[in-house]
Amino acid sequence: MPDQAKPQSTARCPICARPAAEPFQPFCSKRCADVDLNRWLSGAYVVAGKDEEDEDGERTPDRPRD
Ligand SMILES: [Zn+2]
Repeated sequence: MPDQAKPQSTARCPICARPAAEPFQPFCSKRCADVDLNRWLSGAYVVAGKDEEDEDGERTPDRPRD
């Protein structure tokens, strides 16, 4: 069983529950890592308690607000 050479393969991506991939530990892909990062940043903003402050206009255009 040469497949057991990777003990880290037991880790699971916290985003989609797939087996984590080494370059993106503990995530399975950069996409999931980005998802978690965005969640973290969103949470950080809330925790930081910054009132109605906009993000310096640096937000990505994937969520158009009107
Ligand atoms: Zn994933």
